[in-house]
Amino acid sequence: MSYIKGLKCRECKREYAIKPVHVCEFCFGPLEVVYDYDEIKKNLTRAEIEGRAKTMWRYRELLPLDSDPAVGRNVGFTPLIKADRLAEVLGVKELYLKNDAVNHPTLSFKDRVVSVAVSKAKEFGFEVISCASTGNLANSVAALAAEGGLESFIFVPHDLEKGKILGTLIYGTNLIGITGSYDEVNRLCSEIAENYRWAFVNINLRPFYAEGSKTFGYEIAEQMGWRTPRHVVVPMAGGSLITKIWKGFKELELIGLLDGVDSKIYGAQASGSNPIVAAFKEGIDWIKPQRPKTIAKSLAIGNPADGFYSLKTIRESEGSAEDVSDEEIVEAMKLLARTEGIFTETAGGVTVGVTKKLIDQGIIPRDESILISITGNGLKTQEAIQDRVGRPLIIEAKFSEFEKIVTPNQRKYRESIVQATI
Ligand SMILES: *Cc1c(COP(=O)(O)O)cnc(C)c1O
Ligand SMILES: [Zn+2]
Repeated sequence: MSYIKGLKCRECKREYAIKPVHVCEFCFGPLEVVYDYDEIKKNLTRAEIEGRAKTMWRYRELLPLDSDPAVGRNVGFTPLIKADRLAEVLGVKELYLKNDAVNHPTLSFKDRVVSVAVSKAKEFGFEVISCASTGNLANSVAALAAEGGLESFIFVPHDLEKGKILGTLIYGTNLIGITGSYDEVNRLCSEIAENYRWAFVNINLRPFYAEGSKTFGYEIAEQMGWRTPRHVVVPMAGGSLITKIWKGFKELELIGLLDGVDSKIYGAQASGSNPIVAAFKEGIDWIKPQRPKTIAKSLAIGNPADGFYSLKTIRESEGSAEDVSDEEIVEAMKLLARTEGIFTETAGGVTVGVTKKLIDQGIIPRDESILISITGNGLKTQEAIQDRVGRPLIIEAKFSEFEKIVTPNQRKYRESIVQATI
């Protein structure tokens, strides 16, 4: 049972049948999946969704598959957390985190897009899955291709974090490190995609892949009790996630599951890779490509495919955009961990850091609901915080040695235990 009508050019609106293509033959605009929203509206209710399994597939009518997903059946429905301790530090009233650092199976939001893309690739009959990646996509494609019994070829900048390399190789993929930036990796992959019948999840399957990101937005709305936060801060690499969260909110409104959407969307980048933020601040609607240099490697895209549409989302929702330095990213990662017990990767440091900055600047008010997107897991980017979190004390296994390191302040608990046992 499928509600997909076809593909449509976002620019000239020409329509295409469902096939593995991503650009319009006439104007080179990006293609997007079109649904029969009238039919979905007739058949899908809040109660129906709430009764389904707690995965992203509870919104399957709004995803572009013809059949049940072939891979990633347990992806999504990650925790939405009310972050009161972080709220107190930031001096705001109502703060939430959407935590895809614990998404299944590879601990980033990329499992949402890849489970759709790999399942769609299987429907199309592809036997090889491929991608150009800044790291998390590599992990997810390798894992979900393995689950689907498909061969995979994964292309990354050669100098990625160790955790992201290991977390790809373990699945038995063909991993190719390119001596160049992500943008160069992507250019090479576009050329390969023209010559090999491979499913590049973020190139020829991009229209389907991108739809998976909408579930991040659907879940936020449902988990907040079918309403959306007033302010939503989203990390931007290629700029797909931010546009799809907005699209997701709008779709829920269109099919009558939300009474209205008055959210403002904020784009977050690292200062060392901020092409979208820079364009926003300059007030232009085109992107000046950059050569990224930042510890937030998962977001290090200098020529973002959806940069133009990200700017459109930010402006349409009356949000804003900001960037933070590598130093601020590390501080924000530590702040989140110490206040909420969540260890995010550098991209989460970017969204937490940018949120703090926007609050301090008075752009996000302190008395309205705010949601910060946490999209990846800190265990994958350990390099970023190495030497920044202290070291364990090493002692011999002797009670006397232990007593030497206890501070006078900690010693008070010794006495209270002695009293309690008398
Ligand atoms: C890929 C990625 C993003 C951004 O995704 P885009 O859709 O390309 O903007 C954000 N956070 C993490 C951790 C990512 O891996
Ligand atoms: Zn077109």
